Amino acid sequence: MDHANTFDVIIAGAGPAGSSAAIHLARRGVRVLLVEQKKFPRAKLCGEFISPECQKHFEILGVAEAMSTSQPAAITETVFYSTGGHHITVPSSWFGGSAALGLSRAVMDNVLLRRAQDCGVTVLEGVSVTEPILHATEVKGVRVKENEYLAPLTIDATGRARILTKKLHRTEPKSKPKLIAFKAHLRNTRVAPNACEIYFYPEGYGGLSTVEGEISNLCFIISAKQVKRHHSNPEVVMREMVMKNRRAAYTLEQAEPVSEWLSASWERFGRQQPSPAKGLLTIGDSAAFIDPFTGSGMLMALESGELVADVIVRHQNSESVAAEYTAEYIRKFDSRLRICGWLRRAAFNPRLAGLGIAIGSASKHFTSRIARATRSPKRDPHRTLRAG
Ligand SMILES: Cc1cc2nc3c(=O)[nH]c(=O)nc-3n(C[C@H](O)[C@H](O)[C@H](O)COP(=O)(O)OP(=O)(O)OC[C@H]3O[C@@H](n4cnc5c(N)ncnc54)[C@H](O)[C@@H]3O)c2cc1C
Repeated sequence: MDHANTFDVIIAGAGPAGSSAAIHLARRGVRVLLVEQKKFPRAKLCGEFISPECQKHFEILGVAEAMSTSQPAAITETVFYSTGGHHITVPSSWFGGSAALGLSRAVMDNVLLRRAQDCGVTVLEGVSVTEPILHATEVKGVRVKENEYLAPLTIDATGRARILTKKLHRTEPKSKPKLIAFKAHLRNTRVAPNACEIYFYPEGYGGLSTVEGEISNLCFIISAKQVKRHHSNPEVVMREMVMKNRRAAYTLEQAEPVSEWLSASWERFGRQQPSPAKGLLTIGDSAAFIDPFTGSGMLMALESGELVADVIVRHQNSESVAAEYTAEYIRKFDSRLRICGWLRRAAFNPRLAGLGIAIGSASKHFTSRIARATRSPKRDPHRTLRAG
């Protein structure tokens, strides 16, 4: 095997999880290969709400300035609207810092990937990882087209696709997607410029907020059944379902797409195995998919990228890395994932969502406790890796 094809760590997928893990590792002298199937910058289906806690991660990763010069929108509150128009407000300051950022994934992910390159990470862009290389049951690297790349540790950061993990478990039953999400950039909306507005409607919910260039980003989820009923046309779904929400009917009345619609489907929320095989770890959405109404998926991606790098740097052999990473992952993320599981029932049921909003608007203390419970109660990004 050519020495140029061997690394300390291989990471598949350059979303916020993969790129942040790569940056942390490279800055600690680890030789990293990062493989990304798309050429960046690229649009990505997402609410594009970057939770305030991400700012601390951006500072540690050395990308805070690049993010702010991209002129993100400052989002000071998230407002949850029931179908009938009642609402509760969650100030961004409850999560630390004054504002969340509204920045497109095209920009954010590109900034992180270029930073990884600057830190010495070997990046392959526009090529897909096809499968893990297995020696007995141990993952020893990945196949990328006809090439083989080897490393004692491989990280699956391919998002909800979980490419490497799925290839290991070929027998994983395929279920029909129950939920579909759509996203587009729009102009002529009436969304409050400093707010991320969340709308509940039958069989789904959606978010509307501002990104750089004063464009609005609409991202919504709905049952696959409703999508089929509306001929899989996102604009029809928006008009017929999302706009059943009274506030959305107002903010989206004159909205016009300025990008193509992106769509994605998936089967489940929640946690998967942090280490599905010897030599393989998972981070970001590959490890766990948290409900988008929390606006914290990218935060979890950055947190798990930091955690995996920290564990790898502290432990030398791949077996103790796997055990330690799994234990720390569960400790850090399981409680918020469990709470989101309870809240999810209300998110897809407008009556329950309306009731939750009524209770929440009667008690700021209650709302604040629930909102904070969707994050880590003891989070301190300076605890582990620091700029080096
Ligand atoms: C509808 C919806 C709305 C959301 N809104 C928000 C929000 O507002 N705020 C928030 O914080 N989070 C939000 N999220 C969650 C957020 O998008 C994810 O948590 C986050 O993108 C996870 O980052 P990641 O790096 O794990 O995966 P991803 O961002 O999905 O990145 C994975 C990368 O892997 C690459 N890849 C895939 N397969 C291969 C392969 N075979 N070879 C090489 N590369 C590959 C992909 O191209 C991609 O670049 C939302 C999610 C959904 C579904």
